[in-house]
Amino acid sequence: MRSISILGATGSVGASTVDLLRSHREEWRVEALTANCNVAELAGLAREFGAKLAVVADERCLPDLREKLAGTGIETAGGAQALCEAAARGADLTVAAIVGCAGLGPTMAAIEQGGIVALANKEALVSAGEVMTAAVTRHGATLLPVDSEHNAIFQCLHGEDLADVRWITLTASGGPFLTWTPEQIATATPAQAVAHPNWTMGAKISVDSATMMNKGLEVIEAHHLFPVGLERIRIVVHPQSVIHSLVEYRDGSTLAQLGPSDMRVPIASCLAWPRRMKTELQPLDLPTIGTLSFFAPDEERFPATRLAREAAEAGGAAPAVLNAANEVAVAAFLAGQIAFTDICALVAQALDQGNMPPAPVDLAEVLDLDGAARRRAAAMLEQYSVV
Ligand code: NAD
Ligand code: MG
Repeated sequence: MRSISILGATGSVGASTVDLLRSHREEWRVEALTANCNVAELAGLAREFGAKLAVVADERCLPDLREKLAGTGIETAGGAQALCEAAARGADLTVAAIVGCAGLGPTMAAIEQGGIVALANKEALVSAGEVMTAAVTRHGATLLPVDSEHNAIFQCLHGEDLADVRWITLTASGGPFLTWTPEQIATATPAQAVAHPNWTMGAKISVDSATMMNKGLEVIEAHHLFPVGLERIRIVVHPQSVIHSLVEYRDGSTLAQLGPSDMRVPIASCLAWPRRMKTELQPLDLPTIGTLSFFAPDEERFPATRLAREAAEAGGAAPAVLNAANEVAVAAFLAGQIAFTDICALVAQALDQGNMPPAPVDLAEVLDLDGAARRRAAAMLEQYSVV
């Protein structure tokens, strides 16, 4: 039996993880489960799996959690610090599935225990960059990518030498606005933006997919996970989301990973790593799929990938600023405060500010930088307000 903690257990990635655990109950002992404030769901999961600890990030939800778990013997806690303490209890495998930089502290706490960390929370890696990868090395942790593209690349790189890689190609579905005109994109609503054609995901990453900032964040994520050089990482739009990414080697061979657009595939690969586990997913039916198509990304209609690449090239504080501004802008868009195209306009403005802070050297500096960048981005919102 192995122990597992799920940070962000009530989200989309959390639910896919839990679904896989259900079919392999006897193999796992659940240490900690966390959520922001979805107490009903969290308490239900904690009871179902006999978790040792359940934590809500929002302290105001703790009394309700305590009440729902009274008499079960399951420990409860609340607040940002409690999340980090939950992750620091260590588990053989920790699934980092909180959305946004809010997941950085707990993810780093899990890394510091030196176990396996299955990372879905890409914003944490984008913001912390080398601070996180250095911690992985220092603590002898293993970082496994849950993000479908990075999981695909990880599989395609198995047993290979990074020096032999010519290209890493991230596939992008193109999101719900792939075929929309600039005029249509300008009027996109939150409901339209979260209606992803291929994947069912949380609201934030769905909006990121619509702007293509998700792919921009993924370029930065790939840059840290697979250090082949930023210039060797590129994007191709592949609307069917069947090929999850590709690696081309210098001898002309290209390896790709294919599978259904279901996060349970990459999550299962992390849960069972370095082996494989059985899932109940439908096999890939290529004759029914019929056609796979590919396009170059259009950075005129979708400037986010260019902004992310520029931030990655600039390095230092820029990726954390990009991520913080994007989180603030996406939340404002979802709340109906700004227009869809204002998301990238605000991110560009945040990156354009003359005095970029110095590169953060540790977790505290990353968190300070993130907080300051959020405050600056929030102050900019007024210029874009549509209400
Ligand atoms: P989600 O919104 O469905 O779930 C997020 C989880 O984090 C929930 O459990 C929520 O309670 C918790 N949470 C939210 N805000 C929090 C806070 N401030 N503090 C602590 N916990 C908080 O998101 P998701 O779609 O599951 O995505 C999670 C992460 O995985 C994101 O970083 C996303 O980019 C990444 N990811 C998701 C998918 C997908 O298919 N959903 C695919 C690849 C990568
Ligand atoms: Mg992805």
